[in-house]
Amino acid sequence: MSAELGKVDINELAQEAGKAVGEGAGALAKVEGIYPLSVKFADGAFFCLARTGQGKRLVVLGEGKAAGDFSGESVSGVKFCALDAENAAALRNYFPWTAPVPIGRRASFGTGDRLGVATPGHLQAFAPYEIFPVLAQQSMRELGRTGRTAQDVIDDAGWGAFEAGYVGTFAADADHIKKIDEALDCYRLGFTMFTIDASDQIDLQAVHLSDEQALTGFREIPAYRQITERYADKSWNFSRGGVSVDIAFSDAELARCALVYHKAVEHMAAIYDQLRKVSGAEAGFDFEVSVDETETDTTERDHFFVATELAERGVKWQSLAPKFTGQFQKGIDYIGDKAKFEQQFAAHALIAENLGPYKISVHSGSDKFSIFPLVGQHTGGYFHLKTAGTSWLEAVRVITVKNPALYRRMHEFALEHFEQDRASYHVTTDLAAIPPVDSLADSDLPALMDKVDSRQLLHITYGSLLSCRDGAGAFLFRDEIYGALYDYEQTYYQMLERHIGRHIETLGVKRR
Ligand code: ZN
Repeated sequence: MSAELGKVDINELAQEAGKAVGEGAGALAKVEGIYPLSVKFADGAFFCLARTGQGKRLVVLGEGKAAGDFSGESVSGVKFCALDAENAAALRNYFPWTAPVPIGRRASFGTGDRLGVATPGHLQAFAPYEIFPVLAQQSMRELGRTGRTAQDVIDDAGWGAFEAGYVGTFAADADHIKKIDEALDCYRLGFTMFTIDASDQIDLQAVHLSDEQALTGFREIPAYRQITERYADKSWNFSRGGVSVDIAFSDAELARCALVYHKAVEHMAAIYDQLRKVSGAEAGFDFEVSVDETETDTTERDHFFVATELAERGVKWQSLAPKFTGQFQKGIDYIGDKAKFEQQFAAHALIAENLGPYKISVHSGSDKFSIFPLVGQHTGGYFHLKTAGTSWLEAVRVITVKNPALYRRMHEFALEHFEQDRASYHVTTDLAAIPPVDSLADSDLPALMDKVDSRQLLHITYGSLLSCRDGAGAFLFRDEIYGALYDYEQTYYQMLERHIGRHIETLGVKRR
């Protein structure tokens, strides 16, 4: 593991940095406690990130308008600024690459970061590859579990990019947006990608209607005539590289498809229109159509229908997430019929290529190593993948290695909370397959992060682990978890580089 950087007392740091600054950026970068790649110059002042005994601080040396726009505590003429929302906004003004931007037509990879400390590690993983990073990605339903705000998610990615000296681009995905207001709020905060989860508007019951019932219901949809004209007595064929898709709708099939999806289409189009209005430009944001949060697989016909109807309503989207066969359980490999997955995936990719091109998006993409090569292959590398939980599990891995006593307590707590916490997930975890943690030596603990059942145990319970407090109101684990990751952050970055890097490599992404 690479060496950890020291934490330096603020007074000492102020002295050393004050001395070095006269000799320029190179000298400043060598001061202990300063992240060497973070040193930047703007408007007559130096800016850099430092590790102090009180946590990370933005250090400002010099005068001028830029320096004045950051607020903090002055020590021997050196300003130490908290990494808060106000300073993050100022940072984006002077160092625009710390703000997310839209992806447009590029392959992309989302790394949700539940703790907000993973960005430099994610950037190390992305560095060798030709793929657009979505460093900020947060589903609104999971924010409560982490005790962070949507603003924190954007800001933390920006601070992480600044620490790492990253001057490239990244995006911010407001994931699983269900309501117009959520989308607009996230837009105002700076999110650049909007993943619209239309599961509440998808009516899967309609799949089971008889032909007659479906046709009757269909006629009640206001746009029924226009929809009929678009599909009746028509057929489409797409083929490439041995994959072929034929699409045609019988009257009853069209009726059922419309009944299942028309409300979802209207809903997504309404959100899109509002975003268009506030952004004022078509390239102002990325839009992802997500129909994956359902019980049944998205058929070729479903995909074709949804895409055609959205296009008809003027929606322009960059990616679409179908529901695939098999199980995409959190933090573990794909479970299911790989051949069937490949056949479905290839068909979806072919439709996306012909109706767009837009990207096929794979959700719950953490650790799906056995299907990654298929995803890369059938999209010709033009895909979007979302991961989140796997970076949390790498954080837990750091703790298994560096603070086994803390891990043991987390493990016991997770066992107690598992039944309750699993309710919101579909997992098949077998707790009996996890060895009792007191029977394991410290050196055996990291291996738990390589096994399906223990991975899921720690994955499912992350919300409780981060939010539970003792009788006196103090966090049971949160502060210690953050403390361990602060002490051993280079270890964390390195683990992320390896693990997320393995994802990107297996997807077959081109190296730079
Ligand atoms: Zn999803």
